[in-house]
Amino acid sequence: MDAARARALLADADAAAVRTLADLGAEIAAITVARQDANSDDEHDPEGATIAYERSQADALRRAAEERRAAVAAAVARLDEGRYGGCARCGRPIPEGRLEARPWADTCVEHAR
Ligand SMILES: [Zn+2]
Repeated sequence: MDAARARALLADADAAAVRTLADLGAEIAAITVARQDANSDDEHDPEGATIAYERSQADALRRAAEERRAAVAAAVARLDEGRYGGCARCGRPIPEGRLEARPWADTCVEHAR
C-alpha cells in the first residue's frame, strides 16, 4: 500500500474514533445526569442497574476508541519512519486487504492477537 493511501485511511480511522469519543462523551454525560436523578446507588433499583450497565458499556466503547486512536497514531509513526506495512512479529508484508480493512494493523493475520 502506498503511503498516501495509508495516510488517508489512517486519517479516516482517527476521525471516526474522534467522532465516537465525542458521541460517547455526550452519552456518558447524559447517563451521569440520569444516574443522579435515579439515585442509583441502590444496586437493587432496576433503573439504577440499567444505568450502571449503560455506563459500563459506554466506558468500554470509550476505551476501545482511545485504544484505536493510539493504534492509529502508532501506525502514522511507522509511516513516518518508513517501516509501515510489515508484521511486527515476523517482518513479512501485511497483506493489502488487511491494511485496507485495518490500516492500523501492525501484524499479519497469523500473528494478530
Ligand atoms: Zn506475522
